[in-house]
Amino acid sequence: MRRVLTAATTALTLTTAGTMLAGTPGQAAPTAWGRPVVSAAPQPGAPGLGDSYFPDYGNGGYDVGHYDVRLRYEPATDRLTGTTTILATATQDLSTFNLDFLLDVESIRVNGWAATTSTAGTHEVVVTPARTVTKGQQLTIVVRYSGVPSEALVDGYTGWTRTDDGALAVNEPESAWWWFPSNDHPLDKATYDISVSVPTGVEVISNGVQPTPPLAEAGNRTRWSWRTTSPTATYLAFLAIGQYDIVTDTSPGGQPVINAYSTSLGARGPAARASIGRTAEILDWESGLFGPYPFEAQGGVAGPVDGIGFALETQTRPVYGPGFWDGGANTYVVAHENAHQWFGDSVSVAEWRNIWLNEGFASYAEWLWSEEQGEGTAQEIFDFAYAGYGANQGFWQVLPGDPGAGRIFHPAVYDRGAMTLHQLRLAVGDDAFFEILPAWTAEHRYGNGTIEQFQALAERISGLDLDDLFTAWLFTAGRPELATTARKAAPPTEPKSWDKIREAHNLMSH
Ligand SMILES: [Zn+2]
Repeated sequence: MRRVLTAATTALTLTTAGTMLAGTPGQAAPTAWGRPVVSAAPQPGAPGLGDSYFPDYGNGGYDVGHYDVRLRYEPATDRLTGTTTILATATQDLSTFNLDFLLDVESIRVNGWAATTSTAGTHEVVVTPARTVTKGQQLTIVVRYSGVPSEALVDGYTGWTRTDDGALAVNEPESAWWWFPSNDHPLDKATYDISVSVPTGVEVISNGVQPTPPLAEAGNRTRWSWRTTSPTATYLAFLAIGQYDIVTDTSPGGQPVINAYSTSLGARGPAARASIGRTAEILDWESGLFGPYPFEAQGGVAGPVDGIGFALETQTRPVYGPGFWDGGANTYVVAHENAHQWFGDSVSVAEWRNIWLNEGFASYAEWLWSEEQGEGTAQEIFDFAYAGYGANQGFWQVLPGDPGAGRIFHPAVYDRGAMTLHQLRLAVGDDAFFEILPAWTAEHRYGNGTIEQFQALAERISGLDLDDLFTAWLFTAGRPELATTARKAAPPTEPKSWDKIREAHNLMSH
């Protein structure tokens, strides 16, 4: 979660009516005589997937199955060169299609044939294949490129964080633009092979597992390889390059656990290890609430002191900024980012408007972890948070169910979002609530979801009409009233967990 480039600054004009929908085939248009044209000419793939907040994110006309990202990186200069091979299937006849990307493209080949390319908008590469692409065709798209990602700015911003000893490619909702060409929207998930050659002595961490150990290359270099075999949204693929102490282990369930700690952390190091080192335990506990852990590996990355100031639920291996360890260990952020493995990573937003499905749930996981740790019940945290945000505060004016493109990480999405889930739990009862959560992650596993679909599922399992509850808590400005019986006579006392939860949220939301 990070700074958001608002739609207003990145909007690209969508030229052809009907191209807003993913994979809309070239539609038969009526002729001047009123007869439809029988076979429409191949159309350009849409430059966006029609996301209501970020209309030009992602692209229409094809679906990616796999990215092979093969890079070479120079920490001293931030120079990145590479080749990304995209395996995709055309979902319509295509005259052109777009990739989302910012670095300099040297060449693109489609099924071996050289394509012509141009740029458009803030982050679009328009690819014109030498031969028309037909619906259903298997595409092997090879993009060769280079650039300095920290200098590739959009609206003055780069999602690539250069550090003293390397770099972090960790950002939301846009991250891939700075290191591999993609169909950059959670609607198009894929598997990944990611490898990076760096000077020997530098570590590279990414998603999933290492199919081979780091391999020596000529010129005193080492190539690190990582593989993700579960469907992964583009913003959840990541790189951490620098000086890291990598700790490997096996989880109680037999999965590889790979944690990495920046050597720059100094006195914060033990607190980072006392937090991220509990990942396997926390995932084991979360599996009992949310359903089977969806992925093939576990872990976490404690980023360097000059890296990111937030944390992100990068798939199989969240990345944490150093600020979480300022006050000692913080397991609440670990519970939060790992809850995202179910809520956000396996079940991703169908549109960014649905960000509550990610942040509300990951925040409520912290409340449940507090209960588990005996540091305050979810009810106690609800009471304290509800009273703490005065009814007149602007906090209550942001709608968690539709916060706006520039506010998807607003505290209301997190805290009022968690309050919403607590109200749902009170309304349906614990039995139904803890049936709804794993049912949601099972029904939408490796896919996408909307708030409306979640409400329908909760209504189906509980047998209740929950429209008033969802409307009041997610879609109405102002602090919702509590039932008279739920009002507390005395001001609630601060739960023991509150300091750590607030510390985490101050860094996560803004
Ligand atoms: Zn989060």
